[in-house]
Amino acid sequence: KDQSPNEFFTKPKTTFEDVAGLGEVKEELIEVIDFINSPEKYKKMGAKIPKGILFHGPPGTGKTLLASAVAGETKSSFFSVSGSEFVEKYVGVGAKRIRTLFEKAKKESPSVIFIDEIDAIGAKRSIDSNNEKDQTLNQLLVELDGFNTDQSVVVIGATNRLDLLDEALLRPGRFDRHMFIGNPNVKAREEILKVHTQNKPLEPDVVIKDLAKKTHGMSGAHLSSIANEAAIIAVRENKEKISAHHFDCAIERVIAGLQVKNPSIL
Ligand code: ATP
Repeated sequence: KDQSPNEFFTKPKTTFEDVAGLGEVKEELIEVIDFINSPEKYKKMGAKIPKGILFHGPPGTGKTLLASAVAGETKSSFFSVSGSEFVEKYVGVGAKRIRTLFEKAKKESPSVIFIDEIDAIGAKRSIDSNNEKDQTLNQLLVELDGFNTDQSVVVIGATNRLDLLDEALLRPGRFDRHMFIGNPNVKAREEILKVHTQNKPLEPDVVIKDLAKKTHGMSGAHLSSIANEAAIIAVRENKEKISAHHFDCAIERVIAGLQVKNPSIL
């Protein structure tokens, strides 16, 4: 009863296999996963679990997906919140919600707390440091400093604007591991398209390698949407399988969507 939305958590089934490409980032995260899965090993050696990890990079590149895979790989409780939802509330509420979020995460540990758009609370503090955002940020700093490392709570923040973040947030012991998640190259696009077509019936004329070449500059989110659009077009045409032609239409549609700055004029 009386649960605010940020206290909800899931137990994701997402694994690293669901995340295509991003090999280097995954390698770095394997260490974090091992920390959560075998804390004794590290404790014996006097090593501390990393508390805060920052994913930065353009939108739609799999930051949320990766965070949920970290939770899935460690059977952790996954708390997913957005920074913007903390600052639009009445004064004091943001800070309180941060407090309850961490309380619950500790109780349900091992836990992964994912804070999307962390720049909404973590942007550099103003001179007049009395506004809602700053109180929320201060509380986040208190929480990060407050929990000790055998509580198996890892906080992952995500932002498109690393440059906006307050230095205090990036200090050692806070969000001190930064991982850049960029748009996929041609090889990674191929892998992402494979993930998103693996359960779809494809005509033999669908060549994933070619689709990867045709989708330069697109994010994982765009590629996932192309695979879905192609399937929808095939259904609409009453076909049994998705063909190369359906993919071409889907690519065109997604490119058109990118070009339309204001979808409401359609
Ligand atoms: P935002 O910054 O807008 O929150 P994000 O980086 O968190 O975006 P996600 O929400 O993780 O992006 O990605 C959106 C969707 O795109 C995912 O649910 C997934 O279907 C697909 N996707 C993105 N990147 C990948 C990837 N590397 N492998 C497989 N699917 C991906």
